[in-house]
Amino acid sequence: MAAPWEDVLRDTPAMREAAALAVDAALLQGVLMRTEGEPNASDVVNFAPFTLLPSPVPRALFEQAYAVQQDFNLLVDAISQNKEFLERTLASTIKVDDFTARLFRIHTQVLEEGLAQAVFLGINRSDYMFDCGPGGAAALRQIEINTIAASFGGLTSHTLPVHQRVLKVLGKSKEASQLLPNNPSEGLALGIAKAWELYGSPSAVVMFLVEEVQRNIFDQRCVENELWNRNIRVIRRRFRDVFAKGSLGEGRRLYMDGQEVAVVYYREGYVPKNYDQQNWEARLLLERSRAVKCPDIATQLAGTKKVQQELSRPGTLESLLPGRPEAVARIRATFAGLYSLDMGAEGDKIAAAAIADPDRFVLKPQREGGGNNLYGEELRQVLEKIRDSPERTSYILMDKIKPQPALNYLLRAHSPLRLSECISELGIFGVYVRQGKEMVMNTAPGHLLRTKAVEHADGGVAAGVAVLDTPYLV
Ligand code: ADP
Ligand code: MG
Repeated sequence: MAAPWEDVLRDTPAMREAAALAVDAALLQGVLMRTEGEPNASDVVNFAPFTLLPSPVPRALFEQAYAVQQDFNLLVDAISQNKEFLERTLASTIKVDDFTARLFRIHTQVLEEGLAQAVFLGINRSDYMFDCGPGGAAALRQIEINTIAASFGGLTSHTLPVHQRVLKVLGKSKEASQLLPNNPSEGLALGIAKAWELYGSPSAVVMFLVEEVQRNIFDQRCVENELWNRNIRVIRRRFRDVFAKGSLGEGRRLYMDGQEVAVVYYREGYVPKNYDQQNWEARLLLERSRAVKCPDIATQLAGTKKVQQELSRPGTLESLLPGRPEAVARIRATFAGLYSLDMGAEGDKIAAAAIADPDRFVLKPQREGGGNNLYGEELRQVLEKIRDSPERTSYILMDKIKPQPALNYLLRAHSPLRLSECISELGIFGVYVRQGKEMVMNTAPGHLLRTKAVEHADGGVAAGVAVLDTPYLV
């Protein structure tokens, strides 16, 4: 998968010049992040990390990933409505994983009370790597689907003109013109706007539920701007604001500081550290409300690693998407090997196989946000320790994907310029809106390419490992 700029990659003076220009272009285009030192102020900002050059992506796999996204939207939505499936699938996990158990408790509580919410909005991102098979042909393999707080749909569109500029400076104008247009945040906003409209209170606002530490605010501002451009009011609040000032009115309408909230868009709430007792109470209040939650708690649970693993069992997709054999086939074609560690012979067997050959697998807990998975020797040690204990059921095992590395420069503030062997992960954004039983929107509005040095097994952009990139189709 050689890119047509291999010839200049080792020309150090040219690369230094291009990197300096790229950083300025990124700042001008708004590829921004707040700093680690001042994560909640915009007085000092820096560029979000990105690759100097686009990375090659096989065109057929890129197209395959787009072609399956609407199927994944339907699947996630179907799982979220299937109480029995979620209950059965997560039964073993919630016995040992407190975080999933608490989410599940809210899910149960809300269903027992009866849903006040009638409009549903899903924004997800399905992530893939390109597995290099023995014959040399790469295959699209899903890493996971993020059903809550899927990020970088904003900053990725601002990275594109930076890469176009770099290619032009290097004398690759033709290649620059071939980079695909990409603006996921517009599509995300269209989904939010549709949900807001169907909610049916023109004076109600959209509430972004944001973290205490907000380094990635500029990415969120891109979506906010799209909403303001459509004359939809946006407010930003934290769980603790909801705890202090949120309330339910007639028909379980949600009010914040006296304003009615039509849509709650979570960019928070996906890891245990987001919650203390008050935040759990705030989450419950939001879930009980009539407001459109993006995602509602059932959709968040549909994105757990345990659900992903159960989907790979023969017959599961068919039962979730009855009468849609083509969608099932498209979805299944992207699956890597996934294995349950539930107690019993099947789990014993795969645990033994992973201990014997840890480099074939990744051990994943029910966590999001990067940096939680176990690989190699560490995988072996942990699995050996828990192999006979029910604790193992809080994890799943997955085949390790082995992509073909490509050379690139990862640009990061305060880091020296260095040529690195890199691998990329492609994410496709999905957006859907359902009113009662009727799907009124189902789209795949854009993509995200993230690239990291091969020496890092794990970690996303927010975790400081991967950087923003742009696909160059080959
Ligand atoms: P998270 O929810 O923390 O983002 P992921 O499943 O996306 O969890 O894993 C985090 C990172 O670990 C991915 O971005 C990827 O770099 C790496 N990774 C995950 N699964 C695999 C796999 N099966 N093979 C190779 N790398 C993987
Ligand atoms: Mg991930």
